[in-house]
Amino acid sequence: MEQSEAKPGAAVILDREGLDRLLETLAAEGFRVLGPVARDGAVTYAPVRSTADLPVGLRDRQEGGVYRLESGRPEALFDYVHGPHTWKHHLFPPEQRLWRAERDGRGFRIESGADDEPPLALVGVRACELRAMAIQDRVFDNGQFAEPGYLGRRGKSFVVAVNCTRAGGTCFCSSMHADGPHASGGYDLALTEVMEAGAHWFLVETGSESGARVLERLPGRATAPAERSAAFDAVEQAAAAMGREMPPEAVDLLRCNVEHPRWDDVAGRCLSCGNCTLVCPTCFCSTVEDVTDLAGDVAERWRRWDSCFNLEFSYIHGGSVRRQVSARYRQWITHKLSTWWEQFGSSGCVGCGRCITWCPVGIDITAEVRAIRDSEERG
Ligand code: SF4
Ligand code: SF4
Repeated sequence: MEQSEAKPGAAVILDREGLDRLLETLAAEGFRVLGPVARDGAVTYAPVRSTADLPVGLRDRQEGGVYRLESGRPEALFDYVHGPHTWKHHLFPPEQRLWRAERDGRGFRIESGADDEPPLALVGVRACELRAMAIQDRVFDNGQFAEPGYLGRRGKSFVVAVNCTRAGGTCFCSSMHADGPHASGGYDLALTEVMEAGAHWFLVETGSESGARVLERLPGRATAPAERSAAFDAVEQAAAAMGREMPPEAVDLLRCNVEHPRWDDVAGRCLSCGNCTLVCPTCFCSTVEDVTDLAGDVAERWRRWDSCFNLEFSYIHGGSVRRQVSARYRQWITHKLSTWWEQFGSSGCVGCGRCITWCPVGIDITAEVRAIRDSEERG
């Protein structure tokens, strides 16, 4: 194939071999290339070297409390939607050493937890995940309390988005964002996988100068209008197939119903396990722990993900503020869907559906909002 002359906003067609070249090119540029892999029965994000490492021919079945990897279209690379892991695992790791102090003569030598890892190339980022990363950018790039580790990793990252051509069983991104499953910004390159009439190809769009530079080195060919239409239609089909939606009234509804009996109802089902916060691509709460060795020569400070479902999370002098599960669930959903707007200027939910799939008892964030709305309508 011919070399493409790509600019931001340009689009070319690649075949699978071209996609392999993309992964090789990113690795040659010094990126640690992460992408979707099937591991332990689920799709997760891990180092990939070629398209053979991707979940080839696999798709996920997701429902409330249910996740299964099953056979999909043979040879499809992106037929799955997503798994329990999100990109925050790599940009804001679950555990991170912030500093280490070691006794040195009469004093201490301090090592910072400075990030000297190679830049990350994130391959297979879905539209909801792009929006979640934009939300975490606002959370962590906030002036006085900016998070340098996150910002360092994020600033060096190269993002290859993948448009969804199937909706997962618990997805509802179309009701959270006008562009739904279409990647509409925040990427360097965006792929749409199309399989039709025995052909298999990827429409690749550039979203940045870096993306254009990488694409110039790949064996792409020009797109035809019919190919662009086919790619757009494939994503529209995913948008139309979403079986859930978030009631638009959620923002005011939750704020005005702090004493609603639904909180006790959901507390009767919720295990307060915190799964929903761990799989959520926007949740960012963490705690800090100091540890020492037995001899007292080494001390370390670690940051670990925390969850507002933990009783200790709201501990202040004298005890925990949110002792009941009902209060913890109400805190999570009200922050996510309502007060997040005041804090960060957007919803804290992107409609990925992970909290529904990975809740062991299948509690559905959209159903809980709908229940409160319906009770108000009944008066
Ligand atoms: S609240 Fe649930 S659906 Fe919304 S972004 Fe988080 S995990 Fe996804
Ligand atoms: S809503 Fe589900 S996932 Fe979240 S804490 Fe309760 S039981 Fe766990």
